[in-house]
Amino acid sequence: MAFDLTARLDERRARQRFRQPTLMDGPCGRTAVVDGREHLNFCANDYLGLAGDPEVVAAFRDAADRWGVGSGASHLVCGHQRPHQQLEEALAAHTGRERALLFSTGYMANIGAITALVGKGDALFQDRLNHASLLDAGLLSGARFRRFAHNDAAALAGQLARSDAGRKLVVTDGVFSMDGDQAPLAAYLDACEADDAWLMVDDAHGLGVLDGQGRGTAFAQGVNGRVPVYMGTLGKALGTAGAFVAGSNELIETLIQFARTYVYTTAMPAAVAAATLVSLDKARREPQRRAHLNALIQRFRRGAAELGYTLMDSDTPIQPILIGDDGAALALSRALAAHGVLVSAIRPPTVPEGQARLRVTLSAAHREADVDRLLGALEDNACRV
Ligand code: PMP
Repeated sequence: MAFDLTARLDERRARQRFRQPTLMDGPCGRTAVVDGREHLNFCANDYLGLAGDPEVVAAFRDAADRWGVGSGASHLVCGHQRPHQQLEEALAAHTGRERALLFSTGYMANIGAITALVGKGDALFQDRLNHASLLDAGLLSGARFRRFAHNDAAALAGQLARSDAGRKLVVTDGVFSMDGDQAPLAAYLDACEADDAWLMVDDAHGLGVLDGQGRGTAFAQGVNGRVPVYMGTLGKALGTAGAFVAGSNELIETLIQFARTYVYTTAMPAAVAAATLVSLDKARREPQRRAHLNALIQRFRRGAAELGYTLMDSDTPIQPILIGDDGAALALSRALAAHGVLVSAIRPPTVPEGQARLRVTLSAAHREADVDRLLGALEDNACRV
């Protein structure tokens, strides 16, 4: 049978779900150049404004001079260079754990960790709204895979109690990437500890942002010491690229043996690790970035609510505006772009049917006047639902 790609693509276009990258002609920062025009950028995950920070960029440049631009091999062959080692040690200390292990992307960290920890005969429990990489890992793992209602600890406890699997692993986003709300970690830990299950938290959007020192969701909720498997990414608040899993010495040794996305891939360039050492240090020691970001979050929420837009239950830099209809979300995103403001429309299947939204993300790189311009553009294009 031939591959009828045209029909598949046409169907996607007809449903207003055709995906296309936006071509950016400049670095990630408070503004972005698109189609030769400068726009305010409210799409990025650069929550602390570190992606273009001069000290982080200088560290990257210096390390590229010293270490070259490629690591040349996987960690276990000869790709594990001194900056990788230093970053793993710094991430372990920052997250309050014995050790940390670098992966080249968050997607790979999730696939690697979950498939290393559970397989046939085991059970995996995930929040329905978990990131795609976690869901994919679940399918790949071969474990019995159950999903529970979003942020519903009672539903999880019920599923755990009914399972007689060997090993039980519960996985949740710390901060949900398309909703911005936080998982109820203490309630999950109570359920896990009652049932001998482990909890893994994907804190891609909490690390750097939550807690006074940017140590993430588990610290912010006062349960850090109880979370056995902590995953964070470097491409969001820390402004670079890559990811890590942190935990006990035995957990990390297990991942080194069994996480195939660690073993069979080239280590990130050492310059990325060296730049992240600097951005991690800044994230920790410059709480004014978080204070400014939180003030912007409050300013945006107040303004958008006054305009009658529907916001979600989020106190993080992810501040989605719920629209509902795919076409309406796309139209609002385009109207904002015409006003020089970039906000991406997120449609199913990334979010549930009927819940298309504009995913507004705020950054410490923004100014109060930038948020006011976004609100002004939203007022002009009022699409209140
Ligand atoms: N987990 C979550 C919750 C994410 O939002 C993302 C990225 N969008 C990832 C994992 C994947 O991380 P990376 O971009 O480093 O592959």
